[in-house]
Amino acid sequence: MRAAVLRGVHDLVVEERPDPVSPVAPGYARVRIQAVGLCGSDVHYYEAGRIGSFVVEAPMILGHEAGGVVEAVGPGVELPVGTVVAIEPGVPCGTCRWCRSGRYNLCPAVKFMATPPVDGAMVTWVDHPAAFLYPAEGLTPEVAALAEPLSVGMHAVRRAGISVGMDVGVMGAGPVGILAALAAETAGARPVVFDVVPDRIQAAQAMGFDARPFPPDANAFDAVLECSGAEAAVAAAPRAAAPGGTVALIGLGTEAAMRVDGLTVGAKELNVVGIFRYANVYPASLAVLRRQRDRLAPLLARQIDLAELPAYLAANRHREAVKTIVRVAG
Ligand SMILES: [Zn+2]
Ligand SMILES: [Zn+2]
Repeated sequence: MRAAVLRGVHDLVVEERPDPVSPVAPGYARVRIQAVGLCGSDVHYYEAGRIGSFVVEAPMILGHEAGGVVEAVGPGVELPVGTVVAIEPGVPCGTCRWCRSGRYNLCPAVKFMATPPVDGAMVTWVDHPAAFLYPAEGLTPEVAALAEPLSVGMHAVRRAGISVGMDVGVMGAGPVGILAALAAETAGARPVVFDVVPDRIQAAQAMGFDARPFPPDANAFDAVLECSGAEAAVAAAPRAAAPGGTVALIGLGTEAAMRVDGLTVGAKELNVVGIFRYANVYPASLAVLRRQRDRLAPLLARQIDLAELPAYLAANRHREAVKTIVRVAG
């Protein structure tokens, strides 16, 4: 089988790995991966070899936004062979205090795909716990792969208490920002997406979102979803929130960029919520994708074969597209 393996900074190879031959373990399913979204974190590991305290110290398969087809199941698993599934890439321990309280994204023992030292999904077959596979009936594996970045926005919408009629500012018109806006819209809110890049604003508008040039007006939004990690946007978020509103920090920037304006937070009694991946949202994300898939077609427009990925990244071609989908198997 083929795998996209990151060996070090700017050192990505597509290599042959032995096909899985062992029977599938109890509780697991073997998924033939079809499509994997290229995420900012994959690119960051490629360019810097680390994200914060997570350091690539041994060769690691990239990718965590995956859709595929169930090919075999282990004892006790009832997923029918042939089912298209979205893969939830983080598998928590299930017994710690955070797992037991439902906040399993905070599990200190979570194994998350393509976060060192755990291998990711840009590989022909993955054995994954069936409890973290979600049937995506009616969806293609490419659309199912969008469940991962959409889940970040869905989780943020829940954490920020976004609901019907609220005005929501979204900082950043990249894939995470667009999908966060979609999540807010689904909750009945009125999202406005801000970006500095005209192409991104246009792309968001083409998908039917209200997208405008950064910066937003002051005090304009009941909630602000910061999806860029850019210093100016993190600084603008508390200003853009109305008094009593909420700021959710989704984007991950540098330490300097992520400093939040505590004076404004205090003076306006803002709620600031951190967002770390997601928990308990995949079924909801898939339901949204079923209704919105046509509209999201631009996010699937750039598809490349796994074999093309090393040259694609080396030439910075991912920067041309709002989203890149890597096709692992046809
Ligand atoms: Zn991602
Ligand atoms: Zn746990």
